Amino acid sequence: MALDAAWAVRWARWSAEVVVAEREHLVELDRRIGDGDHGENLARGLSAVQVKLGQVPVPDQVGEVLRLVATTMMSTVGGAAGPLYGTAFLRAAKISGVSSLSPAAVVAMLEAALEGVVSRGRASPGEKTMVDAWAAAVGAAQEAEGAGADPVAVLAAAADAAEAGARSTVPMVATKGRASYLGERSAGHMDPGAASTAMLLRAAHAAAES
Ligand code: ADP
Ligand code: MG
Ligand code: MG
Repeated sequence: MALDAAWAVRWARWSAEVVVAEREHLVELDRRIGDGDHGENLARGLSAVQVKLGQVPVPDQVGEVLRLVATTMMSTVGGAAGPLYGTAFLRAAKISGVSSLSPAAVVAMLEAALEGVVSRGRASPGEKTMVDAWAAAVGAAQEAEGAGADPVAVLAAAADAAEAGARSTVPMVATKGRASYLGERSAGHMDPGAASTAMLLRAAHAAAES
């Protein structure tokens, strides 16, 4: 299935549904190493995205959808994650101003999102943040694209890797964000932002298969 504006709309809507369904799970992860609001923050923001999508004319470019997601998340999610996801989707929106994404465009979109998160939060892989999920996704997408995968398969590789990246945060000691206040006690728990990143990228793939 083509990764066009209709796909991006399904991605946004599916992300909202998944995050609302997983709200308690994300809240619980953030309760362990943060302040327990990550699920609320994201569910509020993505629900606002769903409302916005119902109010605007149907976009005809992927970038338009991603820009709407970005600006809505910036103004509604709050906390650390709002600006991080907002910047990620804003950068991704710039790269994907086309009607349908090629495999290379999927890679470029994910690279742009990762660059947005890093430019905003200055975290490197291994610091127990959403960067661990985004960076894993980018690496796997690059590899899949290099091996000749189609755009949907590139997304599948990214989603699988983001989940592995989120799991990889469990033993890490946080050195960025609120979890870093816990020092060594942050080890043994999954980073909530890495977990939500994996959900959003899984939703991107699911939206391409539906
Ligand atoms: P807050 O910590 O302000 O309550 P959230 O709970 O919504 O915000 O989001 C927390 C998540 O944000 C963390 O789990 C982590 O993935 C991500 N995060 C925090 N700081 C950074 C950073 N500097 N770089 C990348 N991601 C970060
Ligand atoms: Mg929090
Ligand atoms: Mg908070």
